[in-house]
Amino acid sequence: MSEASKTGNFITQIIDKDNETGKHGGKVLTRFPPEPNGYLHIGHAKSICLNFGIAERYQGQCNLRFDDTNPEKENVEFIDSIKKDVEWLGFEWADQPKYASDYFDQLFAYACKMIEEGTAYVCELNAEQMREYRGTLKEPGKNSPYRDRTPEENMALFLDMRDGKYADGEKVLRAKIDMASPNINLRDPIIYRIRHVHHHQTGDKWCVYPMYDFTHSLSDAIEGVTHSICTLEFQDHRPLYDWTLDTLGTFHPQQIEFARLNLNYTVTSKRKLKQLVDEGHVEAWDDPRMPTISGMRRRGFTPAAIRNFCERIGVTKSDSIVDFGMLEHAIREDLDAKANRAMAVLNPIKVTLTNYPEDKEEIFTLGNHPKNEEAGTREVPFSKYLYIDAADFEEVPPRKWKRLSLGTAVRLRGGYVITCDEAIKDADGNVVELLCSYDENTLGVNPEGYKPKGVIHWVSAKHAVDANVRLYDRLFSHEAPDAKHEDKTFLDFINPESMTVASNAKVEPSLAQAEPGVGYQFEREGYFCRDLKEDGMVFNRTVTLRDSWAKIEAKS
Ligand code: ATP
Ligand code: MG
Repeated sequence: MSEASKTGNFITQIIDKDNETGKHGGKVLTRFPPEPNGYLHIGHAKSICLNFGIAERYQGQCNLRFDDTNPEKENVEFIDSIKKDVEWLGFEWADQPKYASDYFDQLFAYACKMIEEGTAYVCELNAEQMREYRGTLKEPGKNSPYRDRTPEENMALFLDMRDGKYADGEKVLRAKIDMASPNINLRDPIIYRIRHVHHHQTGDKWCVYPMYDFTHSLSDAIEGVTHSICTLEFQDHRPLYDWTLDTLGTFHPQQIEFARLNLNYTVTSKRKLKQLVDEGHVEAWDDPRMPTISGMRRRGFTPAAIRNFCERIGVTKSDSIVDFGMLEHAIREDLDAKANRAMAVLNPIKVTLTNYPEDKEEIFTLGNHPKNEEAGTREVPFSKYLYIDAADFEEVPPRKWKRLSLGTAVRLRGGYVITCDEAIKDADGNVVELLCSYDENTLGVNPEGYKPKGVIHWVSAKHAVDANVRLYDRLFSHEAPDAKHEDKTFLDFINPESMTVASNAKVEPSLAQAEPGVGYQFEREGYFCRDLKEDGMVFNRTVTLRDSWAKIEAKS
């Protein structure tokens, strides 16, 4: 069993009870029903883990169903990306992917049945009148003047709607329920509308399209879904879900609502994510800073870490906000165990070992993983000229400095102890090169009675490979970018440091063979992976080694 299906929750309690009473003969069929109008994000991952996890737990099945009733906003690029993302997370849907549009004929027949039975009518109120007639939360609505048309009249008009005799918005088909219902969703909701648009699956066959609530409940029923799991905002729609299925006397799945995932420092509204892409605030839907599944994949997040995270946050009935640090923690934990180590110098400064022979080269064999011998070893070349990170040298070191400074010694990771003798400066006083001496008796051992205070990473200048390293950080600097802010929008909170580039980085030669998307720990720097899209030596920082945001918050 994957981690997605291990822990019970209030939904599995409902299913356990159904199985005890034999409600569905022990069958469990769930579905994940995305609308193909954008890329999936971390919130969808929670829903995917839940629906597919439950199917797994009960040896049932989960359908992938595209809820494609809004052809104007949907397209095949989104469909393909959704399939890819669900598979990448490690889940398998039952049979072929399904489409609500597969059922348009059946849905049309159901609408005709309602007309015949007097539970649906064609209405000609325009949008503004419709709003007026609907009433408010405090006041009941009014019956439409078209409400008492005969079934024959309604049927003729509905067929004319289908046959393209009317313009968009001229007429709609409404369920005849109760204009005085305290639940506004039951005040004669629209179930069909006219849209003269091409559909990515059904082409130009239809100019009337069913509405979401009508489509969703009946698609669930047609597929024989046993438990239709959705987010809390659909609670008020459940009476309509139940009414539709009861009125038509179909199989009746149970709708169960759970609290959506809200993450701080993140927006998960598809509309806002689309705006970030369309207005060029990020590179694309799969920009590594995006909370999309494709963005997280490019960033180097792993399916196992995302599934662990979704398992840990749990499934509840009340809304809450999860700390982004929890997601990052799950990533670090997974990568710490799995990622090979390597050395990369992001901001290089040259080091010359004055007492090391000019043409000598050595090869150090270093372990790929400190806690896992099975990860094997790699060869790291060493020579007279090295690069270390500029941040690892201070001429006048602060107290407790454990790196290099004038006259002090540090160990080069996997190599010798060196001492800095002189810092060479340019005309502006910037240190441009360090002259150091190495102690040949210190390879892998400390000199007698003495232990250097620190260990720093390095690469051999002659052997290092040039790389572009993109240092990603949280996309928003405000914990609630999405909340109402006085004269500010979420765009005003984009973190200007969400991507900085180390364009002059030098990495150890073994990284030239790094597979795109595979995580490495660059020693002392964080977790990185080679970018999935760009050619050449482009690496993305997946996550830092420690949570620097927690410190910032604690300080302020
Ligand atoms: P839209 O406004 O476009 O409908 P949506 O986020 O609801 O946006 P869907 O494609 O309809 O997108 O979502 C597919 C499924 O994922 C739904 O069942 C929905 O409830 C679930 N889902 C969406 N966002 C979250 C979230 N933040 N947490 C958990 N589940 C979510
Ligand atoms: Mg939705």
